[in-house]
Amino acid sequence: MSENRVVQGRMVTATKLAELIEDDSVMEVDSIEEADRACPDCGGDVLEVTYMPSVTELVTGWKCQDCDWKEADRD
Ligand SMILES: [Zn+2]
Repeated sequence: MSENRVVQGRMVTATKLAELIEDDSVMEVDSIEEADRACPDCGGDVLEVTYMPSVTELVTGWKCQDCDWKEADRD
């Protein structure tokens, strides 16, 4: 199974996807999943990734594959 997905025309790994959402480096990253939702901005496909920006935080992030839209759900 490939971990790489195309986001806005670029191949990204799960780590790179999490960094795009977080706008910073992250410590731990789960594999990329296809989110069961469409982008609210352009209706494109949305990818989901769970990551840890720090040892105490677990974040679920979403990123559109076609535009700049992204969202992060932090506790
Ligand atoms: Zn979009």
